[in-house]
Amino acid sequence: MAKQKRRLRPWVPVAALFLIGMLMAGLVAVGVWAVSQADLSGGRDLELKTYSNFYGGTGEAPLYTVCVDAGHGGEDSGAVSYDTQRVEKTDNLTFALLLRQELREIGIGVVMTRTDDTTLSLEQRVNTAQANQCDLYICVHRNSGNGVTGGVEIWIDDDMNTWEMALGSNIMARLEQVGIQENLGVKGGSAGEEENVDYYVNSHTTMPSCLLELGYIDNVEDNSLFTRYQVQYAQATAQGIAATLDQMIQAGALEDRRDTTE
Ligand SMILES: [Zn+2]
Repeated sequence: MAKQKRRLRPWVPVAALFLIGMLMAGLVAVGVWAVSQADLSGGRDLELKTYSNFYGGTGEAPLYTVCVDAGHGGEDSGAVSYDTQRVEKTDNLTFALLLRQELREIGIGVVMTRTDDTTLSLEQRVNTAQANQCDLYICVHRNSGNGVTGGVEIWIDDDMNTWEMALGSNIMARLEQVGIQENLGVKGGSAGEEENVDYYVNSHTTMPSCLLELGYIDNVEDNSLFTRYQVQYAQATAQGIAATLDQMIQAGALEDRRDTTE
């Protein structure tokens, strides 16, 4: 009896080691799975949806072009923060350049009104969009008020046409996903006292356009959000633009406009 017991003993540690090994492998597998899930939910891509292929056939040139206009510039600094550390023209350009990068990655062509600290008239901005027959136009600004008001506001033409509404709402919804202080709305007209007065760049461009006020430069929380999330905001804005182009393509709106202009 004693001999039999001795013979059985060597199998016990082997079986125990095997079980421990299986357990460890299982834990590692769960760990790898958890990390991959975390990457998917909190990673760089806000949306995993891929839109229509925006590239053309020969040479893979982008089929669609967006005019990105960084508001103010040069002699026109735009609004300035209370501590004078932030100047609107610089924030606008920083964001416009980030937006260009994100749009290009999706496969959308970009025409910039300025890529440096240049003074531009409103006419020159509109002419750039018109001369390049851009499919959409987006003007980047930062708001200013009383220091208390904060949030993101998007202005379109007062007639609130379908595609401008789509453009504004598509961008706003995705900016909200990133995190903004407040959704101040997609609004028709302009912030001035007078009603039914559109921003020059909105009313003088023939393609769907919007003017994005990306938070208040005189609001501390909006500024910290802008600093923290500018890349994510650019991704969100690019995704909103892509979604709008996609909807326009599905509806045949882009082909229609091209047919009449070419
Ligand atoms: Zn401005």
